[in-house]
Amino acid sequence: MTKKLFYELPHARSFSATLTEIIPGEGGCLGLVLDATAFYPEGGGQPSDTGRIQDYPVLAVKEAGGKVIHIVQGPVDAALLNQTVTGVVDWPRRFDHMQQHSGQHILSAAFHHALQAATIGFHLGTESSQIDLKIDGLTEDAAEQVERIANEMVFSNQPIAAKWIDPAQAAEYPLRKPPAKEMAIARLIYIPDFEYSFCCGTHATHTGEVGLIKIRHWERRRDAVRVDFVCGGRALRDYQGKNRLAARLSGKLSSSVDLLEAAVDQSLLKCELLTRELLRTKQALYKGVAAQLAAQAAWTEVGVRIVDHVLLGASPQDVALLAKELLQHPKTIVLLAGVNEGNTKAHLMFAATGDAAGVHMGRRLQQTLSQLGGKGGGSALSAQGGCTDTSKVAAALAQAKAEVMAELDGR
Ligand SMILES: [Zn+2]
Repeated sequence: MTKKLFYELPHARSFSATLTEIIPGEGGCLGLVLDATAFYPEGGGQPSDTGRIQDYPVLAVKEAGGKVIHIVQGPVDAALLNQTVTGVVDWPRRFDHMQQHSGQHILSAAFHHALQAATIGFHLGTESSQIDLKIDGLTEDAAEQVERIANEMVFSNQPIAAKWIDPAQAAEYPLRKPPAKEMAIARLIYIPDFEYSFCCGTHATHTGEVGLIKIRHWERRRDAVRVDFVCGGRALRDYQGKNRLAARLSGKLSSSVDLLEAAVDQSLLKCELLTRELLRTKQALYKGVAAQLAAQAAWTEVGVRIVDHVLLGASPQDVALLAKELLQHPKTIVLLAGVNEGNTKAHLMFAATGDAAGVHMGRRLQQTLSQLGGKGGGSALSAQGGCTDTSKVAAALAQAKAEVMAELDGR
């Protein structure tokens, strides 16, 4: 059994212990077992510590059969066996984990007290952490109320204590969650009159150490609500990042941060008006282009007009607008393509007016796109698709036109 210094002395950054075992592992890794350790092995949602033992970097820490195993990259000097070694924990990483984990207990307790919402899952991530709550939904007001309760607990700097108890004694405590039945002895983490939970993680000794607790956002997850949050150093970095973002946006919009929302609204409105104006201009432009193309179009012997045309520097919306205007002309089949600005994509649209039916546009488009290595499809009267090879689009449309004409005249 390894003596768990991380429970007795959660703030121990370095320690001395005897190296009792070197276990061979995979990929040149070795497991070092000491008679005591301040390295926390992963568990209870909290990732393991890293650091070094002597000069060997500790990559991960696991617990198996009562032994705490420190994974290092081999080889390790065998003369160290049964000697005293020094371990140094990566303290910024461990302290961050303590802030997030203790913060999670405080936040979960605040949800429990304010909304009777049980925490059914916890994940401590590298950027932020999440709890899953058994609750139907969460409003902004309720989330802010919970944040206030959690942060008042931080500001009042209450002790966070731990003790080992027999689960049979569980009824003596106002636990947030009932204990797992199989536990022989359980570690109770508690903040008097606020939080009582079984937990195997490392914790701050006072709530003040956790620092600010901030909910960032939440989303529905099946029958739960997943709340994303940050504590302490992460909350500070998050605030700094949001401040920088607000400053950048206010610079771009030439507005103070306080008036940013109004400036964004104004910008969006201007954008909407310009988009509408652009659409009206394009509609007028394509009406003219369509009239010209319809007048110049080739006619089949059965009296159907066929227009093939490639629009350059055009979007799929441009192609659809031109097709719509062309289809105002009776007895018309349109075989259109729009090639984008960078010549990297083409959007094809084949369509026919009801009185020009006879060739299935969907199937015809699929044949053309298969020559161009693209994909698409549609109905008998209208089909769309795209490809990335734009060099042969004009030739492919000309070929499609010849084949459509032959097919119609062959009837
Ligand atoms: Zn915990």
